[in-house]
Amino acid sequence: MTQRKRTIRSKKETKSAVARLLEGQRAFFDGGVTRDVDARLRQLTALRRAIVAGEREILAALAADLRKPAYEAYLAEIVFLYHEIDFTMKHLGRWAKPRRAGAPSILRPSENFVVPEPYGAALIIGPWNYPFQLTIAPLVGAIAAGNTAILKPSELAPATAKVIADLIGRTFDPEFVAVVTGGVDATTALLRERFDHIFFTGGTAVGRIIMEAAAKHLTPVTLELGGKSPTIVLADADIETAARKIAWGKFINAGQTCLAPDYVLVDERVRTRFVDALGRAIGNFYGDDPQASPDYARIITTRHFARLRGLMGPHAPRIGGRTDERDRYIAPTVIENVPLDDPLMREEIFGPLLPVLSVGSLDEALGIVRSMSKPLALYLFTGDRAAERRVIRETSSGAVCVNDVVIHVSNYRLPFGGVGESGMGAYHGQYSFEAFSHLKPVMKRTRLFDMPLRYPPYRGSAMNIVRRIFG
Ligand code: NAD
Repeated sequence: MTQRKRTIRSKKETKSAVARLLEGQRAFFDGGVTRDVDARLRQLTALRRAIVAGEREILAALAADLRKPAYEAYLAEIVFLYHEIDFTMKHLGRWAKPRRAGAPSILRPSENFVVPEPYGAALIIGPWNYPFQLTIAPLVGAIAAGNTAILKPSELAPATAKVIADLIGRTFDPEFVAVVTGGVDATTALLRERFDHIFFTGGTAVGRIIMEAAAKHLTPVTLELGGKSPTIVLADADIETAARKIAWGKFINAGQTCLAPDYVLVDERVRTRFVDALGRAIGNFYGDDPQASPDYARIITTRHFARLRGLMGPHAPRIGGRTDERDRYIAPTVIENVPLDDPLMREEIFGPLLPVLSVGSLDEALGIVRSMSKPLALYLFTGDRAAERRVIRETSSGAVCVNDVVIHVSNYRLPFGGVGESGMGAYHGQYSFEAFSHLKPVMKRTRLFDMPLRYPPYRGSAMNIVRRIFG
């Protein structure tokens, strides 16, 4: 490990330092070290060890940034990464091997295979809501696939950004993995450079900026964005369990979860029972005064606090509604009878406000879902297989989870990503490896003979032969 400074702060410094950093990473990549799968495995081991050693400072930073409860932070930001790294290390040998492919008879004899090759220098831009996990999980894929990486953690979670910079600085040479901290200026300076892949997690608006910048260099992007994830509760659902799971998924991290159920469409026949059950779940989780609960997080900034209070607007919440600006506290809040053209139903909420709308039928629910942008996830509570099949077939979303919320993100055998406005590309497990790899086809032809048929001058007899083969 070198003593070189690994984080870059001042604006002037950022511009030229970023270019130098990237140059160093390119030279390192060209040296070929990352092509070796054993070297990648060693780096993943080093990353895992660094996280184990840094657990306490990671949890403290998350508490400082978001007042994130240690239990939530440990599961969602640390254990998640252990699983991801362990799964990747177990299977990397197989994923990285050339994969045999067949060939149509006209191309035989030939050997055909697909060789995964690293893109080169990757840029990973992280958000603030799960600021450790969502910056480091893509790095696991980048390392596994043999790339170098520059990480740009979110400036809105400054304590976690510092921990990431320290931890990565202690573990890797900056020619291999480096951290650039800072805000929009730092990201803008990074985006001026030509990377070989950009992996961005954040909002749709910034996603567009990233893609525009990437287009200048024709750099491929993975965009992990947000959206309004709908939750449909049908009359036959186990209402008590559905309400408990939805309350958990909505109010974990004070609603600042990209996959949180954004709003609920509940069959009007069970609406009252459902909302009562939500109230019970919230009470059981956080007590009578959630502000006093050690298990309830805070809103990241006063700007987001003001945005959420604005969204609450004129509504009289059925549950919750209390706010405290000094503490950036917003109670778990349930709002009924929200019209579809209300701001609460037009933009991603990303906070602890849950609109519950009643619907008369599954058709009505599907109509509402389809009238909006494609969400990151869609949740359905029912035991009705036909309804389940209809929802899966007739809607488009990053993922569907039936009879639960959010939890599908932890299955590293499933791709995680959005569609349409909720993003493009996917990661986790093998999908992360592939997100950071070019799957290069290789065809090797025989040297024993060369079919004359393809060469001019083209004769009528050749045409007849071709017709007989392909016609
Ligand atoms: P954001 O888009 O505001 O910021 C993300 C990153 O972009 C930060 O590192 C920030 O510094 C940078 N950035 C901000 N403005 C920029 C600009 N003008 N130019 C260049 N870079 C800029 O997102 P956020 O507020 O950190 O996170 C919230 C959003 O992210 C929500 O929409 C949420 O749904 C989404 N999200 C998605 C996922 C997912 O996995 N799909 C996960 C978490 C969050």
